[in-house]
Amino acid sequence: RKRVGILTSGGDSSGMNAAVRAITRYSIYKNCIPYAIFDGYDGLVEGGSKIREYGWENVRGFLAVGGTSIGSARCLIFREREGRLKAAYNLIKNGIDALIIIGGDGSLTGANILRTEWKGLLDELVQKGKLQESECSVLRNNLTIVGLVGSIDNDMSLTDITIGAYTSLHRICESLDSLTSTALSHQRAFVVEVMGRHCGWLALMAAIAVGADWVFLPERPPPTVESTFEDWETEMCNRLLEQRKLGSKKTLVIVCEGAIDRHLKPIKPEYIKQVIDKRCGLDTRVTTLGHVQRGGTPCAFDRILATLQGVQSVEAVLKSTPDTPAPMIGMSQNKITSVPLMKAVELTHAVGKAISEKNFKLAMELRDPDFNA
Ligand code: ADP
Repeated sequence: RKRVGILTSGGDSSGMNAAVRAITRYSIYKNCIPYAIFDGYDGLVEGGSKIREYGWENVRGFLAVGGTSIGSARCLIFREREGRLKAAYNLIKNGIDALIIIGGDGSLTGANILRTEWKGLLDELVQKGKLQESECSVLRNNLTIVGLVGSIDNDMSLTDITIGAYTSLHRICESLDSLTSTALSHQRAFVVEVMGRHCGWLALMAAIAVGADWVFLPERPPPTVESTFEDWETEMCNRLLEQRKLGSKKTLVIVCEGAIDRHLKPIKPEYIKQVIDKRCGLDTRVTTLGHVQRGGTPCAFDRILATLQGVQSVEAVLKSTPDTPAPMIGMSQNKITSVPLMKAVELTHAVGKAISEKNFKLAMELRDPDFNA
Protein backbone atom coordinates (compact mmCIF):
# COMPACT_ATOMS: atom_id res chain seq x y z
CA ARG A 1 0.00 0.00 0.00
CA LYS A 2 1.27 3.37 -1.00
CA ARG A 3 2.07 5.75 1.82
CA VAL A 4 1.30 9.37 1.08
CA GLY A 5 2.89 12.20 3.09
CA ILE A 6 0.95 15.47 3.29
CA LEU A 7 2.51 18.76 4.26
CA THR A 8 1.61 22.44 4.21
CA SER A 9 4.47 24.88 3.80
CA GLY A 10 5.22 28.59 3.41
CA GLY A 11 2.62 31.23 4.20
CA ASP A 12 -0.69 29.78 5.43
CA SER A 13 -3.80 30.22 3.34
CA SER A 14 -7.44 29.40 3.95
CA GLY A 15 -8.48 26.17 2.34
CA MET A 16 -5.22 24.36 3.12
CA ASN A 17 -7.17 22.35 5.72
CA ALA A 18 -9.79 21.37 3.17
CA ALA A 19 -6.97 20.09 0.95
CA VAL A 20 -5.44 18.07 3.82
CA ARG A 21 -8.88 16.60 4.55
CA ALA A 22 -9.52 15.63 0.94
CA ILE A 23 -6.07 14.10 0.49
CA THR A 24 -6.35 12.14 3.75
CA ARG A 25 -9.79 10.73 3.01
CA TYR A 26 -9.31 10.11 -0.68
CA SER A 27 -6.01 8.33 0.05
CA ILE A 28 -7.84 6.02 2.47
CA TYR A 29 -10.62 5.54 -0.10
CA LYS A 30 -7.97 4.52 -2.63
CA ASN A 31 -6.38 2.08 -0.20
CA CYS A 32 -3.31 4.22 0.47
CA ILE A 33 -2.04 5.23 3.92
CA PRO A 34 -1.95 8.99 4.52
CA TYR A 35 0.64 10.59 6.81
CA ALA A 36 0.39 14.14 8.12
CA ILE A 37 3.77 15.85 8.33
CA PHE A 38 3.54 18.62 10.92
CA ASP A 39 5.00 22.13 10.59
CA GLY A 40 6.04 21.94 6.96
CA TYR A 41 9.60 20.94 6.11
CA ASP A 42 10.57 21.40 9.77
CA GLY A 43 8.52 18.28 10.54
CA LEU A 44 9.97 16.37 7.62
CA VAL A 45 13.52 17.14 8.76
CA GLU A 46 12.77 16.46 12.44
CA GLY A 47 10.74 13.25 11.98
CA GLY A 48 9.59 11.37 15.10
CA SER A 49 6.15 12.45 16.26
CA LYS A 50 6.02 15.14 13.57
CA ILE A 51 5.17 12.43 11.04
CA ARG A 52 1.96 10.64 11.93
CA GLU A 53 -0.42 8.33 10.18
CA TYR A 54 -3.68 10.19 9.71
CA GLY A 55 -7.08 8.58 9.91
CA TRP A 56 -10.48 9.51 8.53
CA GLU A 57 -11.49 11.10 11.85
CA ASN A 58 -8.33 13.18 12.23
CA VAL A 59 -9.57 15.64 9.64
CA ARG A 60 -13.12 15.92 10.95
CA GLY A 61 -14.25 19.56 10.95
CA PHE A 62 -11.30 20.68 8.80
CA LEU A 63 -13.40 22.19 6.00
CA ALA A 64 -14.40 25.30 7.91
CA VAL A 65 -11.12 25.99 9.71
CA GLY A 66 -8.81 28.69 8.36
CA GLY A 67 -5.01 28.50 8.17
CA THR A 68 -3.43 25.06 8.44
CA SER A 69 -4.08 22.77 11.41
CA ILE A 70 -1.05 20.59 10.63
CA GLY A 71 1.14 23.69 10.84
CA SER A 72 3.47 25.44 8.46
CA ALA A 73 6.97 26.86 8.79
CA ARG A 74 9.78 28.52 6.95
CA CYS A 75 12.51 25.91 7.25
CA LEU A 76 16.02 27.17 6.54
CA ILE A 77 17.77 23.82 6.90
CA PHE A 78 15.65 22.23 4.16
CA ARG A 79 17.24 24.69 1.75
CA GLU A 80 20.55 22.87 2.41
CA ARG A 81 21.40 19.33 1.31
CA GLU A 82 22.01 18.42 4.95
CA GLY A 83 18.36 19.13 5.75
CA ARG A 84 17.11 17.21 2.74
CA LEU A 85 19.29 14.24 3.79
CA LYS A 86 17.43 14.14 7.11
CA ALA A 87 14.13 14.49 5.27
CA ALA A 88 14.98 11.51 3.02
CA TYR A 89 15.94 9.46 6.08
CA ASN A 90 12.60 10.19 7.76
CA LEU A 91 10.65 9.37 4.62
CA ILE A 92 12.37 6.00 4.27
CA LYS A 93 11.93 5.22 7.96
CA ASN A 94 8.19 5.82 7.58
CA GLY A 95 8.00 4.02 4.23
CA ILE A 96 6.65 7.17 2.53
CA ASP A 97 7.41 7.47 -1.17
CA ALA A 98 4.86 10.07 -2.21
CA LEU A 99 4.58 13.63 -0.96
CA ILE A 100 1.76 16.05 -1.61
CA ILE A 101 2.85 19.57 -0.80
CA ILE A 102 0.45 22.48 -0.37
CA GLY A 103 2.44 25.70 -0.54
CA GLY A 104 3.79 28.50 -2.67
CA ASP A 105 6.41 28.43 -5.40
CA GLY A 106 9.28 28.19 -2.85
CA SER A 107 7.78 25.14 -1.17
CA LEU A 108 7.09 23.42 -4.47
CA THR A 109 10.61 24.14 -5.72
CA GLY A 110 12.04 22.63 -2.53
CA ALA A 111 9.97 19.48 -3.05
CA ASN A 112 11.16 19.13 -6.62
CA ILE A 113 14.80 19.47 -5.52
CA LEU A 114 14.24 16.67 -3.00
CA ARG A 115 12.87 14.49 -5.77
CA THR A 116 15.80 15.28 -8.10
CA GLU A 117 18.32 14.41 -5.41
CA TRP A 118 16.41 11.40 -4.08
CA LYS A 119 18.64 8.53 -5.29
CA GLY A 120 21.82 10.41 -4.37
CA LEU A 121 20.50 11.11 -0.89
CA LEU A 122 19.65 7.44 -0.33
CA ASP A 123 23.10 6.37 -1.58
CA GLU A 124 24.71 8.76 0.87
CA LEU A 125 22.57 7.52 3.77
CA VAL A 126 23.52 3.91 3.00
CA GLN A 127 27.19 4.79 2.60
CA LYS A 128 27.20 6.58 5.94
CA GLY A 129 25.59 3.53 7.55
CA LYS A 130 22.45 5.44 8.55
CA LEU A 131 20.21 3.18 6.46
CA GLN A 132 20.46 -0.42 5.32
CA GLU A 133 20.28 -1.06 1.57
CA SER A 134 17.36 -3.39 2.23
CA GLU A 135 15.41 -0.55 3.85
CA CYS A 136 15.47 1.66 0.79
CA SER A 137 15.41 -0.79 -2.07
CA VAL A 138 11.64 -0.71 -2.63
CA LEU A 139 11.42 3.07 -2.47
CA ARG A 140 14.67 3.75 -4.29
CA ASN A 141 13.34 4.28 -7.79
CA ASN A 142 11.18 7.26 -7.30
CA LEU A 143 9.93 9.84 -4.89
CA THR A 144 6.58 11.01 -6.14
CA ILE A 145 5.92 14.71 -5.67
CA VAL A 146 2.63 16.47 -6.35
CA GLY A 147 2.10 20.17 -5.68
CA LEU A 148 -1.02 22.14 -4.78
CA VAL A 149 -0.74 25.89 -4.66
CA GLY A 150 -1.72 27.47 -1.36
CA SER A 151 -1.24 31.21 -1.72
CA ILE A 152 -3.43 34.18 -0.86
CA ASP A 153 -1.61 36.24 -3.51
CA ASN A 154 -2.75 34.13 -6.49
CA ASP A 155 0.77 34.58 -7.80
CA MET A 156 1.43 31.27 -9.58
CA SER A 157 1.55 30.95 -13.35
CA LEU A 158 -0.31 28.19 -15.21
CA THR A 159 -3.25 28.23 -12.85
CA ASP A 160 -6.12 30.70 -12.82
CA ILE A 161 -6.48 30.65 -9.07
CA THR A 162 -4.73 29.42 -5.93
CA ILE A 163 -6.10 28.04 -2.66
CA GLY A 164 -6.84 30.90 -0.25
CA ALA A 165 -6.92 33.82 -2.67
CA TYR A 166 -10.69 34.29 -2.71
CA THR A 167 -11.01 34.03 1.09
CA SER A 168 -8.37 36.70 1.41
CA LEU A 169 -10.15 38.84 -1.16
CA HIS A 170 -13.39 38.51 0.83
CA ARG A 171 -11.63 39.71 3.99
CA ILE A 172 -10.12 42.66 2.14
CA CYS A 173 -13.50 43.64 0.70
CA GLU A 174 -15.15 43.47 4.13
CA SER A 175 -12.43 45.71 5.55
CA LEU A 176 -12.70 48.15 2.65
CA ASP A 177 -16.48 48.30 3.09
CA SER A 178 -15.95 49.19 6.76
CA LEU A 179 -13.50 51.90 5.82
CA THR A 180 -15.92 53.23 3.23
CA SER A 181 -18.55 53.85 5.95
CA THR A 182 -16.18 55.99 7.97
CA ALA A 183 -14.74 57.66 4.85
CA LEU A 184 -18.25 58.68 3.79
CA SER A 185 -19.18 59.94 7.24
CA HIS A 186 -16.14 62.20 7.44
CA GLN A 187 -15.58 62.78 3.72
CA ARG A 188 -12.13 61.33 4.15
CA ALA A 189 -9.60 59.78 1.86
CA PHE A 190 -8.19 56.36 2.72
CA VAL A 191 -5.01 54.86 1.36
CA VAL A 192 -5.16 51.13 2.05
CA GLU A 193 -2.23 48.77 1.70
CA VAL A 194 -3.12 45.20 0.80
CA MET A 195 -0.93 42.10 0.55
CA GLY A 196 0.23 40.52 -2.67
CA ARG A 197 4.03 40.92 -2.69
CA HIS A 198 4.89 41.04 -6.38
CA CYS A 199 1.44 40.17 -7.63
CA GLY A 200 -1.32 42.76 -7.82
CA TRP A 201 -4.22 40.32 -8.16
CA LEU A 202 -5.65 40.98 -4.66
CA ALA A 203 -5.30 44.75 -5.05
CA LEU A 204 -6.83 44.81 -8.52
CA MET A 205 -9.74 42.49 -7.70
CA ALA A 206 -10.45 44.44 -4.50
CA ALA A 207 -10.44 47.68 -6.52
CA ILE A 208 -13.04 46.21 -8.86
CA ALA A 209 -15.08 44.71 -6.03
CA VAL A 210 -15.39 47.91 -3.98
CA GLY A 211 -15.11 50.52 -6.72
CA ALA A 212 -11.85 52.12 -5.55
CA ASP A 213 -10.78 55.46 -6.98
CA TRP A 214 -7.21 54.48 -7.72
CA VAL A 215 -5.04 51.36 -7.48
CA PHE A 216 -1.28 50.83 -7.44
CA LEU A 217 0.11 47.49 -8.59
CA PRO A 218 3.54 45.89 -8.83
CA GLU A 219 2.87 45.11 -12.48
CA ARG A 220 2.79 48.85 -13.20
CA PRO A 221 0.04 49.11 -15.76
CA PRO A 222 -0.54 52.81 -16.26
CA PRO A 223 -3.40 54.35 -14.28
CA THR A 224 -5.18 55.08 -17.52
CA VAL A 225 -4.43 53.16 -20.66
CA GLU A 226 -3.18 56.25 -22.51
CA SER A 227 -1.07 57.45 -19.63
CA THR A 228 2.70 57.62 -19.64
CA PHE A 229 2.68 57.24 -15.84
CA GLU A 230 5.62 59.62 -15.68
CA ASP A 231 3.82 61.90 -13.26
CA TRP A 232 1.38 59.65 -11.46
CA GLU A 233 1.00 62.14 -8.63
CA THR A 234 -0.65 64.75 -10.89
CA GLU A 235 -2.64 62.18 -12.77
CA MET A 236 -3.97 60.58 -9.58
CA CYS A 237 -4.80 63.90 -7.91
CA ASN A 238 -6.63 65.18 -10.98
CA ARG A 239 -8.69 62.04 -10.99
CA LEU A 240 -9.47 62.12 -7.28
CA LEU A 241 -10.49 65.79 -7.41
CA GLU A 242 -12.60 65.15 -10.49
CA GLN A 243 -14.48 62.44 -8.58
CA ARG A 244 -15.06 64.79 -5.69
CA LYS A 245 -16.35 67.49 -8.04
CA LEU A 246 -18.80 64.99 -9.46
CA GLY A 247 -20.19 64.50 -5.99
CA SER A 248 -18.17 61.70 -4.40
CA LYS A 249 -17.93 62.04 -0.63
CA LYS A 250 -15.09 59.64 -0.11
CA THR A 251 -11.83 58.65 -1.71
CA LEU A 252 -10.37 55.18 -1.64
CA VAL A 253 -6.91 54.36 -2.95
CA ILE A 254 -5.64 50.79 -2.85
CA VAL A 255 -1.95 50.05 -2.92
CA CYS A 256 -0.42 46.61 -3.26
CA GLU A 257 2.52 46.15 -0.86
CA GLY A 258 4.88 45.56 -3.81
CA ALA A 259 3.66 48.51 -5.92
CA ILE A 260 6.35 50.24 -7.96
CA ASP A 261 6.49 53.16 -10.37
CA ARG A 262 7.76 53.30 -13.94
CA HIS A 263 11.32 53.59 -12.61
CA LEU A 264 10.88 50.49 -10.44
CA LYS A 265 10.85 52.61 -7.28
CA PRO A 266 8.48 51.39 -4.54
CA ILE A 267 5.33 53.46 -4.09
CA LYS A 268 4.58 53.60 -0.37
CA PRO A 269 1.20 54.41 1.24
CA GLU A 270 2.66 57.17 3.48
CA TYR A 271 3.96 59.00 0.42
CA ILE A 272 0.62 58.66 -1.37
CA LYS A 273 -1.11 60.08 1.72
CA GLN A 274 1.22 63.08 1.75
CA VAL A 275 0.52 63.73 -1.92
CA ILE A 276 -3.28 63.54 -1.44
CA ASP A 277 -3.13 65.67 1.74
CA LYS A 278 -1.07 68.35 0.10
CA ARG A 279 -2.35 68.46 -3.44
CA CYS A 280 -6.01 67.58 -2.93
CA GLY A 281 -6.47 69.07 0.52
CA LEU A 282 -8.28 65.94 1.71
CA ASP A 283 -8.13 64.55 5.24
CA THR A 284 -6.24 61.36 4.39
CA ARG A 285 -5.58 58.26 6.51
CA VAL A 286 -3.41 55.24 5.85
CA THR A 287 -4.64 51.77 6.79
CA THR A 288 -2.47 48.68 6.51
CA LEU A 289 -4.75 45.67 6.61
CA GLY A 290 -1.95 43.29 7.62
CA HIS A 291 -2.47 39.69 8.67
CA VAL A 292 -6.26 39.76 8.95
CA GLN A 293 -6.07 39.33 5.19
CA ARG A 294 -4.59 35.87 5.54
CA GLY A 295 -8.08 34.63 5.96
CA GLY A 296 -9.89 33.02 8.82
CA THR A 297 -12.88 30.91 7.85
CA PRO A 298 -12.42 29.78 4.24
CA CYS A 299 -15.02 30.87 1.72
CA ALA A 300 -17.01 28.20 -0.09
CA PHE A 301 -14.94 28.51 -3.25
CA ASP A 302 -11.66 27.76 -1.45
CA ARG A 303 -13.18 24.72 0.28
CA ILE A 304 -14.43 23.37 -3.02
CA LEU A 305 -11.25 24.18 -4.95
CA ALA A 306 -9.05 22.57 -2.29
CA THR A 307 -11.27 19.49 -2.09
CA LEU A 308 -11.35 18.91 -5.86
CA GLN A 309 -7.63 19.55 -6.17
CA GLY A 310 -6.88 17.33 -3.16
CA VAL A 311 -8.71 14.43 -4.79
CA GLN A 312 -6.89 15.09 -8.07
CA SER A 313 -3.52 15.15 -6.32
CA VAL A 314 -4.05 11.61 -4.99
CA GLU A 315 -5.04 10.50 -8.49
CA ALA A 316 -1.81 12.09 -9.74
CA VAL A 317 0.21 10.16 -7.14
CA LEU A 318 -1.34 6.89 -8.29
CA LYS A 319 -0.65 7.67 -11.96
CA SER A 320 2.87 8.96 -11.54
CA THR A 321 5.93 7.28 -13.05
CA PRO A 322 9.63 7.96 -12.41
CA ASP A 323 9.94 9.55 -15.85
CA THR A 324 7.12 12.08 -15.71
CA PRO A 325 7.90 15.49 -14.25
CA ALA A 326 6.27 16.31 -10.92
CA PRO A 327 2.81 17.78 -11.51
CA MET A 328 1.16 20.84 -10.05
CA ILE A 329 -2.60 20.64 -9.72
CA GLY A 330 -4.17 23.90 -10.85
CA MET A 331 -7.35 25.25 -12.33
CA SER A 332 -7.95 26.61 -15.79
CA GLN A 333 -11.28 27.79 -17.14
CA ASN A 334 -13.10 26.19 -14.23
CA LYS A 335 -11.51 22.78 -14.75
CA ILE A 336 -8.99 21.12 -12.47
CA THR A 337 -5.72 20.76 -14.38
CA SER A 338 -2.36 19.11 -14.00
CA VAL A 339 0.73 20.91 -15.36
CA PRO A 340 4.47 20.31 -14.92
CA LEU A 341 5.30 21.85 -11.56
CA MET A 342 8.69 23.31 -12.49
CA LYS A 343 7.34 24.82 -15.68
CA ALA A 344 4.80 26.74 -13.61
CA VAL A 345 7.47 27.84 -11.12
CA GLU A 346 9.87 28.92 -13.89
CA LEU A 347 7.17 30.87 -15.70
CA THR A 348 6.17 32.54 -12.42
CA HIS A 349 9.76 33.71 -11.90
CA ALA A 350 10.28 34.72 -15.53
CA VAL A 351 7.11 36.67 -16.27
CA GLY A 352 4.94 36.55 -13.15
CA LYS A 353 1.21 36.20 -13.25
CA ALA A 354 -0.43 38.21 -15.99
CA ILE A 355 -2.69 41.03 -14.86
CA SER A 356 -5.39 41.63 -17.40
CA GLU A 357 -5.41 45.10 -18.93
CA LYS A 358 -9.16 44.70 -19.32
CA ASN A 359 -9.62 44.17 -15.58
CA PHE A 360 -7.42 47.14 -14.89
CA LYS A 361 -9.54 49.34 -17.12
CA LEU A 362 -12.65 48.07 -15.36
CA ALA A 363 -11.25 49.05 -11.98
CA MET A 364 -10.38 52.51 -13.25
CA GLU A 365 -13.43 53.33 -15.32
CA LEU A 366 -16.41 51.86 -13.52
CA ARG A 367 -16.57 54.15 -10.53
CA ASP A 368 -19.79 55.98 -10.05
CA PRO A 369 -19.48 59.10 -7.89
CA ASP A 370 -23.26 59.54 -7.62
CA PHE A 371 -23.50 56.34 -5.68
CA ASN A 372 -20.17 56.68 -3.96
CA ALA A 373 -19.15 53.26 -5.10
P1 ADP B 1 6.29 29.79 -0.37
O1 ADP B 1 6.21 28.32 -0.45
O2 ADP B 1 5.01 30.41 0.15
O3 ADP B 1 6.79 30.43 -1.64
P2 ADP B 1 8.92 30.13 0.88
O4 ADP B 1 9.57 30.61 -0.36
O5 ADP B 1 9.25 30.81 2.17
O6 ADP B 1 7.32 30.18 0.80
O7 ADP B 1 9.25 28.58 1.02
C1 ADP B 1 8.78 27.83 2.11
C2 ADP B 1 9.81 26.80 2.48
O8 ADP B 1 10.09 25.96 1.37
C3 ADP B 1 11.17 27.37 2.87
O9 ADP B 1 11.20 27.79 4.21
C4 ADP B 1 12.08 26.20 2.61
O10 ADP B 1 12.01 25.27 3.66
C5 ADP B 1 11.46 25.57 1.37
N1 ADP B 1 12.14 26.10 0.16
C6 ADP B 1 11.85 27.23 -0.52
N2 ADP B 1 12.70 27.38 -1.56
C7 ADP B 1 13.54 26.33 -1.55
C8 ADP B 1 14.64 25.90 -2.36
N3 ADP B 1 15.05 26.60 -3.41
N4 ADP B 1 15.26 24.75 -2.03
C9 ADP B 1 14.85 24.02 -0.98
N5 ADP B 1 13.83 24.37 -0.18
C10 ADP B 1 13.17 25.49 -0.44
